[in-house]
Amino acid sequence: MDNLTEFIFKPIGIIHSCYTQKFGIPRQPGLVTAATAELELLPPFNRRECLNGLEVFSHLWVSFIFHHTLSEGWRPTIRPPRLGGKKRVGVFASRSTHRPNPIGLSVVKLESITQESDKLSLQLSEIDLLDGTPVIDIKPYLPYSDHIIEASNGFAPPPAANKTVTFSEQVKSFCQQYQQTTGRNLYLLTSQVLSQDPRPAYLQNSSGREHGIQLWDVNIRWHTTPDTFHVNYMEPVNNESDSSFTTRRH
Ligand code: SAM
Repeated sequence: MDNLTEFIFKPIGIIHSCYTQKFGIPRQPGLVTAATAELELLPPFNRRECLNGLEVFSHLWVSFIFHHTLSEGWRPTIRPPRLGGKKRVGVFASRSTHRPNPIGLSVVKLESITQESDKLSLQLSEIDLLDGTPVIDIKPYLPYSDHIIEASNGFAPPPAANKTVTFSEQVKSFCQQYQQTTGRNLYLLTSQVLSQDPRPAYLQNSSGREHGIQLWDVNIRWHTTPDTFHVNYMEPVNNESDSSFTTRRH
């Protein structure tokens, strides 16, 4: 049994994601269809033959390390946001990032496989992965077995994306220019992320506040009214500005 007490895994790839900070990442994949990432395979796994046959699958299981919360360790019980942050459940009844083995599992959409000299990558969408996430495995998603129609949602029914999101003229033209330069649909991404209401539970009934979020390399400001979220300003991230989540009364 001794040789079964510890396992060492090497990352086979790294995620370059639209989510450059934790705030705003949806709770699960598939909720924000415009969320994209590149999964770059790392040597010695960046061999085309490792991916032979994968291109005929539409979706993949990606196993990864919750690297950003590693230093915080694990907890035997957690308070899931879906229970209002008040009731505790066991870590193994949750999808918490604070696990004894900090391994995450997400079904993502495979858009394409790309290769530029030594750089072999999978282009993904519908992701819930932070930029820089180390990936430890990739497997094809098999709907005949993995999609269980009668499965119950337990205490985590599908979240409602029910916030109306509006944009200022400055933001609309920023998004247009950004898409022309980078090919990224920042307008749709922002709209889908905010419609999920990424605010912490204790702020979800408040209005009249201004909030900040970073997607890709862009700082985004929006304020809340009882009915809508209005995105009033976008600017490229620069090193001097603070890109972390902030909130203040408007
Ligand atoms: N779908 C995965 C699972 O079930 O294992 C992840 C679920 S977890 C509840 C989703 C959250 O993990 C996201 O909202 C984000 O805040 C966080 N997250 C994503 N990538 C991460 C990383 N590399 N390190 C730490 N937290 C991460």
